[in-house]
Amino acid sequence: MSGTLSCCCAAPSSPRLVTTVQVLRRRLRQRFGVELQEGASESAAQLVLALQPDAGRAEGFCLDQPQAGQVRITGYDDSGLLYGVGQYLHTCDHGPEGFVPSPWRGQSVPRRPVRGMYFATHFHNFYHEAPLERVHEYIEDLALWGCNALSVWFDYHHYTGIGQPEAQAMLTRLRSLLRHAGSVGMHAGLTSLANEAYADSPVALRADPETNRAHYRVELCPSIPAGRDLILQWRQEMLAAFADLDVRYVWIWPYDQGGCACAGCAPWGANGFLRLGRDVAAQVRRFFPQARVVLSTWLFDFTPAGPGDQGEWRGLAEAFGREAPWADYLMADSHWETFPRYPLEHGVPGNLPMLSFPEISMFTGGPWGGWGAIPAPERFQHLWDQVGARLAGGFPYSEGIYEDINKVICLRHQWADEPADRSLRAYATAYWGAAAAEDAARAMAGMEQTAGNHLPTPPPTDVTVPLYRRHRVGDVDAVVRHLDRAEAWLDPPARQGWRWRLLRLRGELDRQIEATGGRPSDGTDGLFAELEEIYAARQAEFWVAPPTRARLRQHGYRVDPT
Ligand SMILES: [Zn+2]
Repeated sequence: MSGTLSCCCAAPSSPRLVTTVQVLRRRLRQRFGVELQEGASESAAQLVLALQPDAGRAEGFCLDQPQAGQVRITGYDDSGLLYGVGQYLHTCDHGPEGFVPSPWRGQSVPRRPVRGMYFATHFHNFYHEAPLERVHEYIEDLALWGCNALSVWFDYHHYTGIGQPEAQAMLTRLRSLLRHAGSVGMHAGLTSLANEAYADSPVALRADPETNRAHYRVELCPSIPAGRDLILQWRQEMLAAFADLDVRYVWIWPYDQGGCACAGCAPWGANGFLRLGRDVAAQVRRFFPQARVVLSTWLFDFTPAGPGDQGEWRGLAEAFGREAPWADYLMADSHWETFPRYPLEHGVPGNLPMLSFPEISMFTGGPWGGWGAIPAPERFQHLWDQVGARLAGGFPYSEGIYEDINKVICLRHQWADEPADRSLRAYATAYWGAAAAEDAARAMAGMEQTAGNHLPTPPPTDVTVPLYRRHRVGDVDAVVRHLDRAEAWLDPPARQGWRWRLLRLRGELDRQIEATGGRPSDGTDGLFAELEEIYAARQAEFWVAPPTRARLRQHGYRVDPT
């Protein structure tokens, strides 16, 4: 321990306050070796936590210095106090004399009400497999950056029914994640695919697969009355499984997977999807009166060749022109670096507030997270510049912790339109200290220029084709030089922390791949083994695990025995 920090809670005790103090205590100990000592008087404390309810500045906070040697964090509500603690923690530092309390002073109030995250909890990825306490701690980390909503998805098609033990185990895990998120002020959200179904769904009720988009081929057709009834019955069961939670968002999703191309449903996004969506929305409101219905337009008008004719967007706009919109938010985004054009050019159908769904996990290619961190400040700044001014918030799509920096970029965009390059520095300062921040930020920016690695698919028949492929040859040596310079400032806990290791491993893997021309080796396998540990990915499916030689062979890739 390098010292203590005396603290006074000048606010009425509440479960939220207790949790905020726990979060603060744990991070002071982990990051700075400082022990928080509660119970000091307000005049003697080095740190004061205060509440000053102010509905006009919801979720905001202020850091000031009432007297020499004291920092006061004032929240304008419970969440604001937690975010103020986040700002404090992210700007404290190590100095030659030990712990340096945050020098940051000022007030900050978020500009957008919905600052969410979507955890894809599947394929035995981190969210699916890691010990719950690790995921809980990670949820707290996101809350400290102002994240106020978490959405999860119970993916029916893995199961034969909600009563199956594996389905119940998944529901238990999802509830635990949402409950913990609630303890740090994050609203619970449920994702759903409109016509999703269990693996053994009745064949006679199944949808015509949408050939342009992903489809599990078990989905049901809502134009068949018994199909619609079964969809609503299963939806009712799913909602009931979360009845003990304060669910605030329920998403209704058109595609990826799903949809129905039958004559009664087509065009899905403007026809079958909307009829079914209206029924589901009514069901959601009966179940969770406080919930907001989020209608997704993901892959509307998609064709494999690129964006199509906008017929689904137009159909949605016409439908919400004829009747009052039955959704509360519209969600839009795309796989690409270009935001869907329709809402930008014609306004949002029904004039609904719009949420984004930036894809922060898979854009460098598979396996996702296979090569460590994938910072992409320019990509997400470019997206934000197109649409940020029109958004009420968003829910980035996350497959794991390897894109942690991209989450922080998005959360700070939502909070106050913070430029992504400044977020790189804020992130580096928060986790590695001000002295290391500039080099760490440059290393992350350089990683975007080298653009990550990916595997060729399908497995090449020509054994001379490199398996670990660069998107772009950037200056890997410069990245590693910045990493070396930053690392020299880090104390052992920061140097061994998973955030730093993800950067370091990415740099080392890039270097190995450049040296070997993309050939798997003992060297790459050694680095992958550490990534696997960080991701808790031993059971992970191929597309969410580091591509070791053993995994490549299992997946049909021909790997040189040397
Ligand atoms: Zn149909």
